[in-house]
Amino acid sequence: MVFAANELDQWKQKSPLLSKITDLNPVLWLNPNLKPFNELPDLPISKRDIEEAEQLWQRFAPYLVKAFPETMKTNGIIESPLRKITMMQEEIGRVYSTIPGDLYLKCDNELPIAGSIKARGGIYEVLYHAESLAIEAGLINKNDNYEVFSSDKFKSFFNQFNIGVGSTGNLGLSIGIMGAKLGFHVSVYMSADAKEWKKDLLRSKGATVLEFAGDFSEAITAGREKTIADPKGYFVDDEDSKHLYLGYSVAALRLQKQLEEQNIRVDTDHPLFVYLPCGVGGSPGGVTFGLKQVFGDHVHCFFVEPTHSPSVLIGLLTGEMEKVSVQDFGLDNRTEADGLAVGRPSKFATPISGHLISGIYTVEDDELYRLLSMLVNVDDIYLEPSATAGLLGPNEVTQSNYMENNGLDDDNATHIAWATGGALVPKDDMKRFYEKGEKLMK
Ligand SMILES: *Cc1c(COP(=O)(O)O)cnc(C)c1O
Repeated sequence: MVFAANELDQWKQKSPLLSKITDLNPVLWLNPNLKPFNELPDLPISKRDIEEAEQLWQRFAPYLVKAFPETMKTNGIIESPLRKITMMQEEIGRVYSTIPGDLYLKCDNELPIAGSIKARGGIYEVLYHAESLAIEAGLINKNDNYEVFSSDKFKSFFNQFNIGVGSTGNLGLSIGIMGAKLGFHVSVYMSADAKEWKKDLLRSKGATVLEFAGDFSEAITAGREKTIADPKGYFVDDEDSKHLYLGYSVAALRLQKQLEEQNIRVDTDHPLFVYLPCGVGGSPGGVTFGLKQVFGDHVHCFFVEPTHSPSVLIGLLTGEMEKVSVQDFGLDNRTEADGLAVGRPSKFATPISGHLISGIYTVEDDELYRLLSMLVNVDDIYLEPSATAGLLGPNEVTQSNYMENNGLDDDNATHIAWATGGALVPKDDMKRFYEKGEKLMK
């Protein structure tokens, strides 16, 4: 469905911001439906679900240490550091505008195994599925030592099952690497924008890569149909997955600890701002849900999308959620930020985000490359283009009337840009990204 001109005009009259969005201008949308934490309606998940998800991670920690020795130093826990990036904050101040408060980077680009935020959701859902199958088959119970998941017995057991997933790249990597390691057959249905190196890496790990000429939604639809037709198939559905969401949400419990360790206060006088790059809205939604459970109204979460792929923004602005895509509004969903190249938002995550997020801003691809190069130059940190998008959040928000409207103090704010990926990007690709950013700075 693509809206006819008169229908588009009606939408634009209802939501004037849509004209700027369809003209590809960067925008900041402040969510008029943000609810105070104690006035939230019943949601399909709870804090207890997050705590149970954390327990699953703990059960699998001994297995992860064995299967992925890189997780040894964190005892099998997949987590990333929180780094203060004072020099980058100064550099952003010089190039864009001054940021009051403190700027941190949540370095999910360093997450082990998958090198992106998908290591949270994707690996969690595969482990959840593997555990369910093993329990059902009487192979294990929750009190056993999960090291046995690396045994030949378990591998040959999982070898009779298939996992399918549709992906722009990173989700496929997390599911493919984890699934294949456990012994599953994994089929990854890749959209046209998926990068070649991601396909190559997946094949080298033993996953099957199926390529589609269409976008992410089409890859998902094809993968879903094929996978569920198989009685031993399981589809990781990025457009509608509670398990992915819960895997992401655990980040909040971990971040709470890191903030405490670094003596960073979060309370009425010390607001916390978190800026999350957004594709279908699952990873930023899950993290936001978790953070709201932990910090309530003291945390302010903003999503960021490319100007060409503002799927969650359009879903929330129109109230149509997953029923509309950016293509319906004449946008092309073409962006270099492959992790964010999503035309239609998640059915599970988007309505929840509608109550919890403070707003969404959009960025142009060129900014992503500029930020990428700046961060390399001042802090020697290498992100993929999608992952840099959160770095413009503090400027967007502190220059809007959000702080004033909510009676917040600029100078006491802590800003966290969520760096969602980068570790697995091949050196040559990273060099090209960097050079492109450098050229754009001139
Ligand atoms: C997937 C991804 C995102 C966004 O996550 P969604 O769940 O699709 O919203 C952001 N950054 C990177 C690097 C990603 O791979």
